[in-house]
Amino acid sequence: MLEYDVVVVGGGPAGCMAAKYAAKEGASTLILEEDAEIGEPVQCAGLISKRAIEESEIKNNSSFINCELRGAIIHSHSYELKIESPSPDKRAFAIKRDIFDKELAEAALNEGADIILKSKVKSVKRKREGSKLTLMAATTGADVKGEKEIKAKVVIGADGARSVVAKTAGLNVAKNFLNCVQIEGGYEIEEAFAEIFVGKTTAPGFFAWVIPIDEDTARIGLCIDKRFSPHPNPLLFLKTNLSGHPIIAKKYKGKQSNFTAGTIPIPGGACFWHRQRIAKMVNGAGVLLVGDAAAQVKPITGGGVYYGMKCGKIAGETAAKACSEGDMEVLWEYEKGCRKEIGKEIAFGLKVHRLRCALSDNDFNTMCHALSKYEMMQLITNRGDMDYPSYLFRELLKNPGIIKLMGRNILRYLYTKRKNR
Ligand SMILES: Cc1cc2nc3c(=O)[nH]c(=O)nc-3n(C[C@H](O)[C@H](O)[C@H](O)COP(=O)(O)OP(=O)(O)OC[C@H]3O[C@@H](n4cnc5c(N)ncnc54)[C@H](O)[C@@H]3O)c2cc1C
Repeated sequence: MLEYDVVVVGGGPAGCMAAKYAAKEGASTLILEEDAEIGEPVQCAGLISKRAIEESEIKNNSSFINCELRGAIIHSHSYELKIESPSPDKRAFAIKRDIFDKELAEAALNEGADIILKSKVKSVKRKREGSKLTLMAATTGADVKGEKEIKAKVVIGADGARSVVAKTAGLNVAKNFLNCVQIEGGYEIEEAFAEIFVGKTTAPGFFAWVIPIDEDTARIGLCIDKRFSPHPNPLLFLKTNLSGHPIIAKKYKGKQSNFTAGTIPIPGGACFWHRQRIAKMVNGAGVLLVGDAAAQVKPITGGGVYYGMKCGKIAGETAAKACSEGDMEVLWEYEKGCRKEIGKEIAFGLKVHRLRCALSDNDFNTMCHALSKYEMMQLITNRGDMDYPSYLFRELLKNPGIIKLMGRNILRYLYTKRKNR
């Protein structure tokens, strides 16, 4: 029977980073991935910051970058806000997620981790004997077919939004999910700016996006929060946007390819990071959740690659330390470490997400109008940060126009708060 110090379930950015750091710290480490190839199928718009690229520690950036973006244009129904990055340091990039993930996996292999593909973990259990956890994996590789048992001191669940590890270990973090769809297609691109479209008819409870990936092609997609949508299927909204949205439909040139659909977890409860557990100890063994499995995503934008890698590093290091010291209590350091890094951002982001769900199309217009004033645009340009947006949003919420809007929507906000629990 296979036996490792650390078994990481899922070979996405969070899992690869956790495995890399566990192996680097001396733990025998295995990644189990259900798909036949790392990075495929892609379920991502591939928009990440320069900071996230640095966090990935991948040397050869050119292998996975589609293009550098100069800023973003936010469209409500009647207004648009054009935000240009003031310096190259603050720019964002459209990336090829399949190649990016493969590079991360390669780095984990180089540190000594093993990877087994086509292995879908079905459960994580503690058997009566010993202090190790037993993973049951269904393998579909040509060489080995059937059920496989693997033992581990620490299991890291990096198996995405619908985590089996979280479920079978009794650690359910996300209660709500955004439903997302995306295509790639021909698009009239004037400048390398990401476009964001808000409004109840465009993408209820979230937003739609157009992200250029070369001179005439873009990723066009959206997420909805179905609790605030007249229809639970995001595809209906995508079709409507492609055929009837006053901007998207005009610039969309057909040639559709690479359709993808997926979910993004929304952490539950305002005090999420104080109440929910992403680590568990069971008689000398332990389970950690990381990335989407731990709902480590920005509730404002749905981005999870940066937080997943950041927390993946902490998970890998902590798991290796717990194994080398033979003390699973060390695993609590993981929860503390993640809370320190991203706890406040997630808690504040949830409030902004609730506010967004409460706003009507007219409210979005009012908001864009209030933010288009010179001094507000200066604030957004200079203090905007796609990985840590809370500072900017706290400042924006002091604007009299926004305070008035909040006041008008307080009852609807409280209603969305109840629904978000
Ligand atoms: C449409 C869409 C667009 C997005 N756009 C962006 C964006 O622009 N920028 C951004 O930062 N984020 C974006 N995200 C979110 C981002 O994709 C995720 O936050 C990120 O991929 C999380 O990384 P992860 O490693 O936690 O999980 P994943 O990348 O989901 O990886 C999980 C891995 O686990 C494997 N797995 C699952 N279950 C099992 C099992 N039982 N056994 C073995 N293996 C298993 C899966 O095959 C997968 O390889 C988007 C998401 C969607 C759906």
